Amino acid sequence: MFLKTIDFSKYSSIKVGQPTEVLMIEKGDILPNDRYLIGGANNLLVSPTPPPLMMLSKDFAYIKEQDGFLEIGAAMPTGRIVSYAKKHDIAGFEFCSKLPGTLGGMLAMNAGVKEYEIFNILHSIEIEGKWINKEVIAHGYRFAKLSGVATAARFESTKGFSQDLLDTLINLRSNQPHDPSAGSAFKNPKDDYAGRLIEEVGLKGFRKGDMQWSDIHSNFLVNLGGGTFEDAKHLLDLAKDKIFKKFHISIQEEIKIL
Ligand SMILES: Cc1cc2nc3c(=O)[nH]c(=O)nc-3n(C[C@H](O)[C@H](O)[C@H](O)COP(=O)(O)OP(=O)(O)OC[C@H]3O[C@@H](n4cnc5c(N)ncnc54)[C@H](O)[C@@H]3O)c2cc1C
Repeated sequence: MFLKTIDFSKYSSIKVGQPTEVLMIEKGDILPNDRYLIGGANNLLVSPTPPPLMMLSKDFAYIKEQDGFLEIGAAMPTGRIVSYAKKHDIAGFEFCSKLPGTLGGMLAMNAGVKEYEIFNILHSIEIEGKWINKEVIAHGYRFAKLSGVATAARFESTKGFSQDLLDTLINLRSNQPHDPSAGSAFKNPKDDYAGRLIEEVGLKGFRKGDMQWSDIHSNFLVNLGGGTFEDAKHLLDLAKDKIFKKFHISIQEEIKIL
């Protein structure tokens, strides 16, 4: 393992944070239990005082086919997984395109688009050296209860990459804001949409400093340039407060605040 300085104002998708030392984990290292693991930082909002951080090194960015399974290391970026699936005509990973991050982040968030979620195609996850079948891992909409750091996962390898599905999913994304964001800020509450609630309380397009509730997609908190952690936190708290007062709904952040 070794320390690396990562500037979160550049590395994180929402472009908020500062240069911070992160412990890089290499194959064979014993994982410290006092550090928070990050992946590609596409779902994170890093405060000026984050907890000690760690990250899987490129040792965990691999794909191999073995015994009918596709085994993918948790540091593998989603874009490279889709390219591999396309090249080798493998079905099931089309939805990972345009879903920025690493496999580890997808597993922890049960990331997905519409009815496509990573747990649907998953067979098992390697968590700190032990393979665990997905059936015994509690999971649901945008969450999975992993008992530790995921280092790899296995998927049944089925032939038939669908370019049509890929194109449809990419088109779905065309209405998303292009400014830096961390994707959806809140999870959708049961039978409703966080974006609709944000709009109903009058926050669509509302701005604090350079941070804004997007006027294209209300549930996206976008950074218009110099947005800070404080601006983002203010807008998140404001939305929660207003939505609770008007609808008595406690919405939950999807974005992880560190
Ligand atoms: C423009 C944009 C659009 C997006 N659209 C979607 C969407 O449609 N659907 C969707 O689901 N998400 C979406 N997201 C969010 C994001 O793509 C996913 O949450 C992604 O899975 C995050 O991966 P990451 O590697 O960046 O994880 P990070 O943001 O670094 O971490 C997210 C969480 O995963 C945990 N984690 C990371 N790696 C591991 C590991 N190896 N083991 C255990 N825990 C781990 C972290 O501790 C953290 O809690 C979007 C984001 C952006 C910026």
